Amino acid sequence: MSNSSIRLAVPRTLLYYRYFPLWESFFNELGVSVETSKPSSADILSRGSKYAHTDSCLPIKLAFGHVDSLFDSQNDYLFLPRFFRLENKSFVCPKVIGFTDMVRCCVYPQRSGVAETKAPYLIDNLFDIHNHSNEKVFRDIGRHFTSNYLKINRAYSSGVKYHKFLSDKRSSIFRGEILKRFKMKIGVIGHPYNIHDDYINMGVLKELNRLDALGVTYEDMPSDGFECDLSGFPSGLFWSFGREIYRTAMYFMSGLDFKMDGLIYLAPFGCGLDSILVYIIQNEARARNIPFLNLTLDEHSAKAGILTRLEAFIDMLSCGRGE
Ligand code: SF4
Repeated sequence: MSNSSIRLAVPRTLLYYRYFPLWESFFNELGVSVETSKPSSADILSRGSKYAHTDSCLPIKLAFGHVDSLFDSQNDYLFLPRFFRLENKSFVCPKVIGFTDMVRCCVYPQRSGVAETKAPYLIDNLFDIHNHSNEKVFRDIGRHFTSNYLKINRAYSSGVKYHKFLSDKRSSIFRGEILKRFKMKIGVIGHPYNIHDDYINMGVLKELNRLDALGVTYEDMPSDGFECDLSGFPSGLFWSFGREIYRTAMYFMSGLDFKMDGLIYLAPFGCGLDSILVYIIQNEARARNIPFLNLTLDEHSAKAGILTRLEAFIDMLSCGRGE
C-alpha cells in the first residue's frame, strides 16, 4: 500500500479474484494508494440487492454491494474495468461484461451528490483477448496518473512480473509439500469469485481443511496449462469461464500430478452457465467413477446446509477408502 494522496478503490468482486495482485502492484508503482472493499458480508449483500434485478445471480448482487460500500469513503477513482473475452472465440458472461455499465446507470445516480463524499471517477477501460496484461490498456490507464511513459512502463512490468511470480509460486507450492499434508485431495471448480469468496461459499476450502481434505483449485494447476478436447462443444464452448472450468475439471480427472478423491462444483443460484455445465461435468465424472458433489450457493446465511452436505460427502469418500 502506497502513502500517496491519490486514492483508488477496487471492489473485492468478480475479476478482482484473478487480477488484483497485478492491479495493485501497477497502481502502487505509479504512486497511487489502493483501497479495496471489505470482504463480502450480509451487509454487502443487502446493499447490493437494492440495485440488482431480482433474478440476478448471487455474485452480481454482491458485486453491487461492494461498489456501493466504496462510496462511503472518499476515493478519487473507482477501478472497474470491463472484461469481454479472456481467450479467442469465447466470451465472459454478459453480466460481467455489462457490470461496469450497470454501476454507471444504477449506483452512480443514487450515490453521487447524496453522500457528503464526492463520487469517484470511474476507470472502465476494456480488456479483451489475452489482454488482462495488455500493455496498451495499462498505458491508457496509467495516463490518468502521469504523463511519464517510462514510469507507466515500469509499473506495468512490475505488475505483470508480480502476477506471474504469484501464479508460479502457487502452483509450485501445490506440487510440493502441501499435497502430502492432507488425507484427501478434492478438486474444487467454479468461477473464481465463487471459490475464493468465503462468504458466498461459507468457507468451503477452510471447512475441507478441517475435515483433513485439501481443496485444489484452478490456481493450483501448472502454469503451463492443460489442454483438452473441446471440439464436442458448439464453438468449442462459448464461455471463457466455462472453458476454464471444464479444462480444470478434466485436468483433475486426468490424474496428472495428483490423484483426486472427489470433485466439488460450486455453482451459485441464478447462474445460467453453471446450470448447464454442472451436468456436463457430472456426466464426465460419473463415466470415470469419480465422486461428484454439486453445491448450489444461495442467499441463505446459515452454514448448516452446506456443511452437512460437505461432511456427508467426505464421510462417503472415507467409507470408499475403507476407513
Ligand atoms: S457467469 Fe454466472 S455467476 Fe458469473 S456473473 Fe454470469 S450468471 Fe453470474
